[in-house]
Amino acid sequence: KRMEVPVAEHGIDPKLLDERAVRVVQTLTDGGFEAYIVGGAVRDLLLGMRPKDFDVATNATPEQVKGLFRRAFIIGRRFRIVHVVYGRGREHEVIEVSTFRALLGSESAEQVSGNEKTSKAELAGKSHVVDAEGRVLRDNVWGPQIEDAARRDYTVNAMYYDPQRQLVVDYHGGLADAKKRVLRIIGDPDTRYREDPVRIIRAVRFAAKLGFEVEPKTRAPIKACVPLLANVPASRLFDEMIKLLQTGHSLASLEQLKKYGLARGVFPILDAMLTSTGDLHEGAAGQFVRLAFEDTDRRVLEGRGVSPSFMLACMLWREVLDRWTKLRESGEPAVPALSQAIDAVFEARIGDISGRGKLATDMREIWMMQPRFERRTGSGVYTLVEQPRYRAGFDFLRLRADAGEIDAALADWWEDFALGSEDDRAALVEEAR
Ligand code: ATP
Ligand code: MG
Repeated sequence: KRMEVPVAEHGIDPKLLDERAVRVVQTLTDGGFEAYIVGGAVRDLLLGMRPKDFDVATNATPEQVKGLFRRAFIIGRRFRIVHVVYGRGREHEVIEVSTFRALLGSESAEQVSGNEKTSKAELAGKSHVVDAEGRVLRDNVWGPQIEDAARRDYTVNAMYYDPQRQLVVDYHGGLADAKKRVLRIIGDPDTRYREDPVRIIRAVRFAAKLGFEVEPKTRAPIKACVPLLANVPASRLFDEMIKLLQTGHSLASLEQLKKYGLARGVFPILDAMLTSTGDLHEGAAGQFVRLAFEDTDRRVLEGRGVSPSFMLACMLWREVLDRWTKLRESGEPAVPALSQAIDAVFEARIGDISGRGKLATDMREIWMMQPRFERRTGSGVYTLVEQPRYRAGFDFLRLRADAGEIDAALADWWEDFALGSEDDRAALVEEAR
């Protein structure tokens, strides 16, 4: 079953490799362990794309990995891995190193204890913890590579690349599927979705991102398994949704979600954004989101960063605007009304997902700048352009104008003002009086 594919056949261009990832593999093999680049990076390399991040898989335990690197941190509980960190600050890069995992079931755990590198003590007390629906809650039993491959999700995500020998190790026909551009789940599809329903969303993501066809057997049980997503923690769903929107094919992803009955009732933020049939709204509201998504896709495909807070602010704007308008109509002054509207939308759609503080602050800032753009006189205009987040607030304003929600002249005025000299600015303020 184990196929070792030489470069003549897989054609991976070593220039697409990340130097740090290669160094991590080297350090681990020098330490006497097996190590490979794995997963999505190998898939992207095979497709001739530069991977955005590199994962490494090894038979060294997290503790053993940690011992080989100067800056390495063991993270995660459900799924323990090591982050090997290079560089500092904005330049820093993280290579994720995971230990080969055993298949579900105790026989495999026994088999692993025969492996010299994995002591009995390390296995003691560790097990797969599974809930009533078959969802895996804890997954820290080490095993051989063949089992590690079998527990990955899709065949194209289950290949290993040895950068020193330039070999691809393939157990599940991933190379053939990559060539055919087919997304095929490993094992019995229904069982695999039950173990982890997030695989359903990953299928949608890879189909949209890679332009792959979802193989019929892989596709068949998806609709029936959608209700299982109700048991997935909100924070994991939230992260998956963010990834889905950053594939560079966000509108295609939305279409796929709709096709599988995932557009409504799974992600609270999509519920806020889409009609009951899973479509974008008519008129300016829908157009606003469409433009925001097109813009995001363009940025991703040009290799520029996208900010999740900006996207989310766009996605929830219709609802914020509706509530804001109602509160103003009931006599509330504009700024406190907006603040209340934002609180209500956060409460309804984001909830208390922990670790989202910064994201929420940034979104609020973008929104709270909007009424300030309406005033083109007074000293407020000068302080507004100096705000660190002015650019995001302005881009948001521009999108509103492009979607036909507000007069384009307002966005033009701010563009001129931001770019203008002292004299230009004074003239613009004078003109607006
Ligand atoms: P991306 O390019 O978006 O990072 P990826 O395939 O690398 O895609 P990751 O979430 O980074 O996705 O996961 C790395 C690898 O771990 C996958 O390629 C896959 O082999 C495995 N994996 C990730 N999530 C799951 C899952 N839910 N079930 C099984 N295997 C998974
Ligand atoms: Mg990845």
